[in-house]
Amino acid sequence: MTQLLAPPPTQKERQKQASVQIEKIPVKGYEQVLKVTDKKAGLTAIIAIHDTTLGPALGGIRIYPYASFQDALEDVLRLSRGMTYKAAVNEVGFGGGKSVIIADPKTEKTPELLLSFGTAVEMLQGAYICAEDVGFTLDDARTVLQATRYVVGTPHAKSSGDPAPFTAWGTFRGIQSAAKKLFGSDALEGKVVAVQGLGSVGAHVVDHLFWAGAELIISDIDTAKAEQLAARYHARTLPADQILKAECDILVPCALGGIINDQTIPQFRCKAIAGCANNQLLRDAHGNALRDRGILYAPDFVINAGGLLNVAAELEENGYNPKLPRYKAHHIYDTLLAIYEIAEKNRESTHAAALALAEYRIKYAIGKRVFPPIFHHSAE
Ligand code: NAD
Repeated sequence: MTQLLAPPPTQKERQKQASVQIEKIPVKGYEQVLKVTDKKAGLTAIIAIHDTTLGPALGGIRIYPYASFQDALEDVLRLSRGMTYKAAVNEVGFGGGKSVIIADPKTEKTPELLLSFGTAVEMLQGAYICAEDVGFTLDDARTVLQATRYVVGTPHAKSSGDPAPFTAWGTFRGIQSAAKKLFGSDALEGKVVAVQGLGSVGAHVVDHLFWAGAELIISDIDTAKAEQLAARYHARTLPADQILKAECDILVPCALGGIINDQTIPQFRCKAIAGCANNQLLRDAHGNALRDRGILYAPDFVINAGGLLNVAAELEENGYNPKLPRYKAHHIYDTLLAIYEIAEKNRESTHAAALALAEYRIKYAIGKRVFPPIFHHSAE
């Protein structure tokens, strides 16, 4: 006997059936902070829309087993605000948002949970556009797409694909900007550059540095990977607990956040820090401490925007063209040089100068999106 399969529910039907609850959490300085729950699907999540002056909020979904709801709230507030600044300073044409799902991505991530979260995103009608982040994979994005069109980075004909090469190119240009500021020339020939973390972005950065003629010191907790790249690029390796203390011209953090802190600052033996890792300063004040030590710092949310620029390009009217994010990532160099100059004139840290520049652009709506984003996956 043939059994006829029922067609999958449409987005509208799913919304009607959904048991998603959305509750507003008032937070000063944020446009919308929403607690999203669905008992049936085992979902507890928070969506934070920090600022949409320049465009809809764009930011990743982080799935992480936070110890408490308060921890998750603090993280999503910090991350969504960071997205606003990253997008504003690099004229991405989007606002800042982020979401967190409180769950262990290894054991608690089910299709029901992802679909329920996607339903909540759909209910916001495009105010928040979600993307990949820690604990959330491309396959998960494909699942979420069944519940909402407001998702980027899913595989399709006009998809932006892997952001890492774009982040790496922006980071390399940021390293060049540091060299220009320090030595009056962006040539890296013979300059000693130490790279922490040889993952998706770090390995690409090392490749660019090699071809630019830098003397490389590299490190990864995966020592086999470090040895393999060291052989390919004739680099020196250092153990993971030594790399931040390496004597070098430019230190390039491409692994973890919080690596610029009270313990590490006195130990640095570099002239500049310019890497892609997110949230490198443990606290804002550590930007001042670096300045006091005479170490030039390329603010992380400026130098690492290549991946965001790439994914945003997927929503252009004519679909994704890699030349646009390549061009914009290339100009991270100029943005950073401007930030170094503003910081010097105002006698403040480069981190403070970058924040002020982002706030200025938001205040005067510089780089505000003119055309609405187009979701090409829904046209397929
Ligand atoms: P990844 O996970 O691919 O690579 C991280 C690498 O760092 C891994 O090889 C890991 O073994 C290594 N590592 C971890 N701890 C280390 C330590 N203590 N010492 C040395 N190496 C260590 O990540 P990724 O995508 O390359 O991203 C790197 C950083 O850049 C992260 O902070 C990420 O948030 C940030 N970032 C990435 C992108 C992107 O496009 N992927 C965009 C913006 C920012």
